[in-house]
Amino acid sequence: MGTLSLHPQEKTFTQTLYDSYDSYRVKEITSRRMKHAEMMKVVSSLQASMKDILSIEEIGKSSEGRSINLLKLGSGKKRIFMWSQMHGDEPTATMGILDMLSYISQHTTSAEVKKILSETTVLIIPMLNPDGAERFQRRSAHGIDINRDALRLQTNEAQLLKKTRDAYSPEFGFNLHDQEPRYTVGSSGNAATIALLAPAYDHAKSENAVRVRAKKVAAKLVDIFSPFIEGHISRYDDSFEPRAFGDNIQKWGTSTVLIESGGWNDDPEKMYIRKLNCVALLGICYSISTDEFEKSDVTRYEQLADNTKNMYDIIIQGVKLTFTNSTAPVVADIGIDMEESVDASGKIQRNGKIVDVGDLSTYTSFRTVDAKGKSIDASSVKMESIVDIEKLMAGMK
Ligand SMILES: [Zn+2]
Repeated sequence: MGTLSLHPQEKTFTQTLYDSYDSYRVKEITSRRMKHAEMMKVVSSLQASMKDILSIEEIGKSSEGRSINLLKLGSGKKRIFMWSQMHGDEPTATMGILDMLSYISQHTTSAEVKKILSETTVLIIPMLNPDGAERFQRRSAHGIDINRDALRLQTNEAQLLKKTRDAYSPEFGFNLHDQEPRYTVGSSGNAATIALLAPAYDHAKSENAVRVRAKKVAAKLVDIFSPFIEGHISRYDDSFEPRAFGDNIQKWGTSTVLIESGGWNDDPEKMYIRKLNCVALLGICYSISTDEFEKSDVTRYEQLADNTKNMYDIIIQGVKLTFTNSTAPVVADIGIDMEESVDASGKIQRNGKIVDVGDLSTYTSFRTVDAKGKSIDASSVKMESIVDIEKLMAGMK
């Protein structure tokens, strides 16, 4: 894999964004279950604090009547388009965008912000699927996956995304999502905290100038993320999906990169990954403003290991399962994922669920418990059952 290359000014800028994050992050947003009204409150107050830099235009409404807005920053010739949360339960980048706007509002005279605002126009649709966000669900209120509606355009949300893309013909696009937190970077055992993709625009995965430029942007993103999460960046599945937006927006002429926010140890609310999104989105806008991304080594992107699904939240290794009948004992690993639910009072609960039992030696986990030499009654290790982990472990003798 090529070597990390950040221009010294990019290095300083992104490191400063990272180190000073607590001084500018949007403190009102503390949950990834943030709803449309909360987001709009933050957006309005940010706009009021930088009226001549940031404009908000309501471009339409969701099917349930929530406003969908286009934020516009800067007045430069290079157009950068970002859209987040077309899947309602994938809010990490939306939070990162709010932090990014907050940074800009507090640093309007910094050299990097001035460069971004003079060389680029940043167009942002935060929370494209506010009805899904309200329910914390993937799909729109119609029950449709907006990311499979790029051709048929049945949902208002998909129509607005397409209309905005076509109205501005941006050179650069950022398609911002969350992926399941339990993906790994190839067989490394490392969680895929960020997965990147310069989507294909046909089944042959051909290359044209638009896609090559997207790969350079993706390679620059690898270099921006790496100092913070070295070894935790994967490449998302690059099969062409004819109905998806990223693939089509690439095809329509906007160099598009998909950024998927995955998992990080002890960060179920993804607040660390939100910070990384903020740093990377600002960092890449700066690299585009200076054209520095043009020099990036595409192999930095192309040689990323694939996103791989072989991880559980917890693995209890090598426990002996005993049976009350004549069945002989067996040694097994137990895979447990933490499942999130919301109780009647709105509080988030995280419960362990047994999702695999057997030889899990090819799997990795955020937490590993060695239970070799211990035994447990097999009746307390039922597939798909919800378990109290401490209690389960206390039952191993
Ligand atoms: Zn998604």
